[in-house]
Amino acid sequence: MNPQLLFWVPVALRLSLFLIAAAVVGYFFGPVAGLAAGLICLIVLIVVQLNYLFLLSGWLDHPESEKLPDGWGAWTDIFSRLYKLRRDDERNRADLSEWLARFRQAMSLLPDGVAIMDDVLFLEWCNPAAEKHLGLNNSRDKGMRVTNLIRNPDFIDYIILGRYDQPLTLSLRDRKLIVQIIPFENRRQILVTHDATESERIEMMRRDFIANASHELRTPLTVINGFLEIAQSQPDLDQSVRMSHLKLMIEQGERMQNLVEDMLTLTRLESIDYPVRAEHVNIHNLLEQILQEAKALSGGRHKISMLIDGPDIQGSNDELRSAFSNLVSNAVRYTPEGGSIEIAWKQTEAGVQFSVKDNGIGISAEHIARLTERFYRVDKSRSRETQGTGLGLAIVKHVLLRHDAGLTIESEPEKGSTFTVRFAAHRQTLA
Ligand code: ADP
Repeated sequence: MNPQLLFWVPVALRLSLFLIAAAVVGYFFGPVAGLAAGLICLIVLIVVQLNYLFLLSGWLDHPESEKLPDGWGAWTDIFSRLYKLRRDDERNRADLSEWLARFRQAMSLLPDGVAIMDDVLFLEWCNPAAEKHLGLNNSRDKGMRVTNLIRNPDFIDYIILGRYDQPLTLSLRDRKLIVQIIPFENRRQILVTHDATESERIEMMRRDFIANASHELRTPLTVINGFLEIAQSQPDLDQSVRMSHLKLMIEQGERMQNLVEDMLTLTRLESIDYPVRAEHVNIHNLLEQILQEAKALSGGRHKISMLIDGPDIQGSNDELRSAFSNLVSNAVRYTPEGGSIEIAWKQTEAGVQFSVKDNGIGISAEHIARLTERFYRVDKSRSRETQGTGLGLAIVKHVLLRHDAGLTIESEPEKGSTFTVRFAAHRQTLA
């Protein structure tokens, strides 16, 4: 129904009731009594309206604590609409604060930093990632100018130049950060920070790897090309010289092949799409094969012994063979003639362990931490002489990572080295 009608019809009805009552009194008791009755009705009506106005004014002072009366006449409708408005308002507020809490929680889980500043760069709010990246503290630094909080010349220049359409790469607190300011709402700006330390490190590793791999491949290729050019320009070369060139070319070709195979192995081991196969590894068979290979590589120049006193494990046969044989072949290659090598598989209190001990050339302390880096060698020429690719220990590290195992290296120059692999207890299979 029309709201105006809804309001005016009850008012008109009540007024007519009063008029009829006044007319009835006037009819029975004379016009003066009728007028007095009408006046009294009017006064009662006004007092009732004033009372409701008073109640309404009191309620407006404390809408949350006071209860509104049910009302009478048009007031019933007014009060019930006010009630509804208040309920809607409460619901909106609850929705809003719930949304705000959710927004804050989402912001606090964000790996990227977000700081909100006003138009003159005074900090209004920032999430935990921004606190971590920029060294801010949301409660302590609120209301302070970010240029006073982030005292970095590159950042200050970025603000002065105001070229906010481009991000800025910043070295701050031992991190590589990508920061960008995004103006919004005319009077506010968001500062977004992204920690690029890890991706920068990976990018650097990738660049180093390509540079090293190209360098490693270039040397044998140069040798092979050199001999091929000689063969082309001097067709009547002596047969014995030709044979020695061919032998050297085959060696360099093998070196390239080893290198490419090691690079492919590393790439495969690093791939997340290539999960480790959990199969039963027969340690006895595996180590016996490795021992035979080591003896063949040594050619009788070393004394090689082996002790197996531990259970089999779960893992990938191929990967473990590659890791163990890398360690054993290193021991052979870096131990001078007459030296001894001890291979052991033992059960210890901490779990099962594999160790290779030699009394070879050893490694000085400053190199030990870097040995598992790709292409890291203590002595480049010696590694090449012994057909090393510089990738062996990097492969070992990756295989062990995939098998929840750790590698420890103890070594002393001129005395020898011990490489120990420790497996987590859950890798063991019951004997
Ligand atoms: P490479 O193919 O050059 O042997 P690795 O990654 O297997 O590459 O080893 C890295 C470096 O660690 C080697 O170049 C060598 O200098 C050193 N190294 C590894 N094992 C031994 C060892 N048993 N004794 C002495 N030095 C070793």
